[in-house]
Amino acid sequence: MKEARLWTTAGDKVECQLCNHYCKIREGRKGLCQVRKNEAGRLYSLNYGKLIAAHIDPIEKKPLFHFLPGSRSYSIAASGCNFRCAWCQNWDISQLSDRNDPDRLALTTPEKVVGTALQSGCKSISYTYTEPTIFYEYARDVSVLAREAGLRNVWVSNGYMSAEMLDEYMPLIDAINVDIKAFDDTVYRKYAGAHLQPILDNCVTLKKAGVWLEVTTLLIPGVNDNEAQVVGLAEFVAEKLGTDTPWHVSRYYPQAQFREIEATPAETILNALKTGKDSGLQFVYTGNLGQHENTVCPSCGELFIGRSALWNNPNKIQDGACPKCGTKIAGVWE
Ligand code: SF4
Repeated sequence: MKEARLWTTAGDKVECQLCNHYCKIREGRKGLCQVRKNEAGRLYSLNYGKLIAAHIDPIEKKPLFHFLPGSRSYSIAASGCNFRCAWCQNWDISQLSDRNDPDRLALTTPEKVVGTALQSGCKSISYTYTEPTIFYEYARDVSVLAREAGLRNVWVSNGYMSAEMLDEYMPLIDAINVDIKAFDDTVYRKYAGAHLQPILDNCVTLKKAGVWLEVTTLLIPGVNDNEAQVVGLAEFVAEKLGTDTPWHVSRYYPQAQFREIEATPAETILNALKTGKDSGLQFVYTGNLGQHENTVCPSCGELFIGRSALWNNPNKIQDGACPKCGTKIAGVWE
């Protein structure tokens, strides 16, 4: 166990201040994420360095389309999550079980993670697959070493981190993809046991701080695909985060507890693509559809990043600008 950061004493409990649940935890009990425990009045992280996944991924898989395109990212996760989304694609590692109990996993040091990333030619380390907020102490230690070694830090997150955590960690994040799961607090409460507004606020904070931000939404029939939510989300991204913020609209396939719901019709994704563009967004991409993944100049339509295959990524952008008309393209290109 590693003593946690960001907690305080609250009467006979400790209050975890890592995410917006702000769990108040009794002696001997764990928080909602099941990986932070009150031991004798102090809060401990139970999953520090207990990696349940470590892979070399194309950065496009995060998905980040405007951040070091064509590069590889050493991608790690510890088990646990602060959400319980029934459609989770990584349910087997995000929800604790005997197989992924941190007590059964060996410690991987931050030095080892950074060394492996460098040896494998990665340009970044991604904290992903599960929710990185719940292995914050470890991610932070890796992030510090990664920066010293010239690597970038990438988060793939549900965006539910606390303001205290963002305040402390934001200088170390280079890029983040936030999964905004719905544009309706009722949906968040019902399926994730969380609230929408803190996530929207965090996106605005990250954008204002200059962290490269892309947004993903997995459209699920009957959950978050109605017009009001799709239009509301597209307008939020355009108006509050900026029309140059990439929005990835992904197709759902049956997962976890949601097997009775059929895959999202392609038409739903294509309609959302149009809604995003009608809202003024310059870069709307589809996911799990096999089309609309290329980056084209919003001014002249020149195709300059093709993504017909994740590892085959011709990138014609020049000094962050369209090679044909010179329009500056938002992103981190070098
Ligand atoms: S990280 Fe969030 S869910 Fe986990 S104990 Fe802290 S406040 Fe609760």
